[in-house]
Amino acid sequence: MNAPRPVLGIINAQRQTEGGGFVVRRPFPTGRVDNVDPFLLLDEMGPVDYAPGKAIGAPDHPHRGFETVTYILSGEMEHRDSNGGHGVITPGAVQWMTAGSGIVHSEMPSNQLMRKGGRMHGFQLWVNLPAAKKMIPPRYQGFEAHEIPSVTMADGAIVRVISGEVAGVRGIVDTTSPVTYAHVTLPAGAAIEWDVDEGHTALVHTFVGSVVANGTEAVEGVMVVCDRSVGPVHVTAGDDGAEVLLLGGQPLGEPVARYGPFVMNTREEIIQAFDDYESGRLGTIVASGSGISR
Ligand code: MN
Repeated sequence: MNAPRPVLGIINAQRQTEGGGFVVRRPFPTGRVDNVDPFLLLDEMGPVDYAPGKAIGAPDHPHRGFETVTYILSGEMEHRDSNGGHGVITPGAVQWMTAGSGIVHSEMPSNQLMRKGGRMHGFQLWVNLPAAKKMIPPRYQGFEAHEIPSVTMADGAIVRVISGEVAGVRGIVDTTSPVTYAHVTLPAGAAIEWDVDEGHTALVHTFVGSVVANGTEAVEGVMVVCDRSVGPVHVTAGDDGAEVLLLGGQPLGEPVARYGPFVMNTREEIIQAFDDYESGRLGTIVASGSGISR
């Protein structure tokens, strides 16, 4: 058995309110972390309790050059995009959207959450695309909670695998580059061993309780960043149990030019993206039925 890979450090993500009123915990991007490639952003949305009529979302906006992954724990989010994609993401469900050459989408609380209020809690992860695939056609993969492969271990640990492979369970999403995304729920003292490919990025984000990951203690809101050498990651829950996300992937090692909703390789490509969006070449959302009409 390989020795656990070393830990590079931790990121302490405090809960904060963003400009639009979103309550998020955002481990990255930060000014000083470049060990998260191929990931670009992780937002833990909430948990926040909305009064009736007070839930907020993100109306029509574009993306190009990467993928957005939405995983909901509580509440409901309704998605519509210029490619004809539409769905309500419910607790335990995931939506993996490849923006590729460009898409316009809206991410709004469902009508029900808007009307009645309620708790919203979930994650949005941004996964970069390799230069050669930044302009692939947009794609939408949505899976309900019951479709996400999971396993309950002997010690009670529950592993839900969205993509990649953890604890012998293969995830359901067809990713563009090798990416592992799993949600692990650990009772007090339970442990999981995560075999990460050699040279791959390995991140453990604790969002409930506390863990020890490869010898490093992490309470909720703390992300443990492992190095890209070789060896597994061992995660053991503290006395109150824990919930963590495991994020792994093959680093792209390419230049990143990012501005707002666009992530490309060069400044010229960012300017082109704005130009294409403003000219309507990323499309518009065509409303159908009830829901958003713009
Ligand atoms: Mn978006």
